[in-house]
Amino acid sequence: MSTNSKQPVFSCEFFPPRTDAGMEKLLATHQQLIDTVNPSFFSVTFGAGGTTRDRTMETVKQLRSDNNQIIVPHISCMGSSKQQLSDLLDEYIELGINRLVTLRGDVPDDGTADNELMHANELVTFIREKTGDHFHIEIAAYPEYHPESASPDEDFKYFLNKANAGADSAITQYFYNVDAYTRFVDKCEQSQLAIPIVPGIMPITNYANLVRFSDACGAEIPRWIRKQLEAYENDLDSLRAFGTDVVAQLCHQLLDAGAPGLHFYTLNQSDAILNIWNKLK
Ligand code: FAD
Repeated sequence: MSTNSKQPVFSCEFFPPRTDAGMEKLLATHQQLIDTVNPSFFSVTFGAGGTTRDRTMETVKQLRSDNNQIIVPHISCMGSSKQQLSDLLDEYIELGINRLVTLRGDVPDDGTADNELMHANELVTFIREKTGDHFHIEIAAYPEYHPESASPDEDFKYFLNKANAGADSAITQYFYNVDAYTRFVDKCEQSQLAIPIVPGIMPITNYANLVRFSDACGAEIPRWIRKQLEAYENDLDSLRAFGTDVVAQLCHQLLDAGAPGLHFYTLNQSDAILNIWNKLK
């Protein structure tokens, strides 16, 4: 992996809150992160289906009206027709949005989804055909491989395919093995893919939730981390202090290894990110 001489770029991810109280709390979190991390953008996740889809738009509008920060909506083809996606793109252009995180989305639990575009590469192509170079397109990358993929080689081939459809940069699924990331970036370089691959950083604050998320998305929790978190099951302060140490060290190692920046999965909370940030400084 070649080293990076540029200043690292930081970004933070939110999900759309379900309630007014959740939105108020998010706006406070947003301000705290601006005052400290001052990320280059905030992204807002996208849920398949009507009401969750609408909540992404509402959250984007709220955050944009809150101050002048760059807001980056996620968009997925899961559960949406081409017409719905096209309308959404028009609305984002009208709002002045010029960057998107472009995804397939997760298959609903019952296995059914009403979509016309089947994979994220098709959505990248669709956005480029419809809007040209208007959007900076981010895509998802999986250094530990996507859980549905038949093999590492096939997953990587599809990643290249998606990137070459017109992506500008990628954000990874979270991971705690630095080697998985550096090998992934090396493979991209060997395949002449030069887009920035920004590691996604998941803070460690709750053992049960981390295990549940990690099982679902295919992120490995190394044994030494898992065992220590288990041991701190009834001692939340120690668990969080350990989690902060581990994740801050991961961030250091990634930046030292040449990562172009870090994308923080905030889970709409600022405390864990600020603890990591203070150690990083
Ligand atoms: P794809 O790139 O389409 O890949 C999905 C699977 O299909 C992989 O196994 C891949 O190997 C395979 N594949 C890819 N292309 C092809 C092809 N042409 N033919 C056959 N197989 C193929 N989910 C949400 O619902 N909303 C969000 O806002 C959201 N934000 C995310 C942000 C980031 C940074 C990341 C890393 C993930 C996010 N996710 C989100 C989760 C994501 O939607 C899931 O991981 C989803 O299962 C895959 O999305 P993808 O865009 O990577 O899909």
